[in-house]
Amino acid sequence: MSRVKLLDREFELSIPEETLLKAVDKVAEKMNKDLEGKNPLMVCVLNGSFMFASDLMKRLTIPCEISFVKLSSYSGTGSTGKVKELIGLNEDISGRTIVLLEDIVDTGLTIINTVEQVKQMGPADVKVATMLFKPDACKRDVKLDYVGMDIPNDFIVGYGLDYDGYGRNLKDIYTVVE
Ligand code: 5GP
Repeated sequence: MSRVKLLDREFELSIPEETLLKAVDKVAEKMNKDLEGKNPLMVCVLNGSFMFASDLMKRLTIPCEISFVKLSSYSGTGSTGKVKELIGLNEDISGRTIVLLEDIVDTGLTIINTVEQVKQMGPADVKVATMLFKPDACKRDVKLDYVGMDIPNDFIVGYGLDYDGYGRNLKDIYTVVE
């Protein structure tokens, strides 16, 4: 499928599954080395990260756990603007190594806020893994420990990412056709 239509927009194939999975292989290989003996808690930030989290977990050979969290659609404001509240991280994470699993880092605002909230819960360390990163969109100073792929600053769907709820099920990534 080189083109798909979702609602009112057309998207064209930009990153095939094979390329995505090679990127996940590399992230997993690095984690298996870096996080050996750390018994990390992987924290999958829903909804978009579910495919990345699933493919990554299958490739991790170190002992680890996974937890699933969501960000509220809106809650209050903070120094960085709108702050989305992290929901669902109910376990005691004090002293743990946490690895946040994100689908995409665009402006960086979401991940910066999420890391801040997790840090307040007293973990030993918070690392960030994102499947995709848009370097041209991200003007903030974000520390990304693991990046699957850098991508251009275009709107994409597939591999967990949606356009108004649709397209999350696509195994490849598609870019909007302007
Ligand atoms: P940030 O706070 O880094 O600007 O945005 C992160 C969130 O915006 C992601 O978790 C994702 O939900 C959404 N997002 C950013 N870029 C894209 C994109 O190209 N496609 C889709 N579907 N969502 C995106």
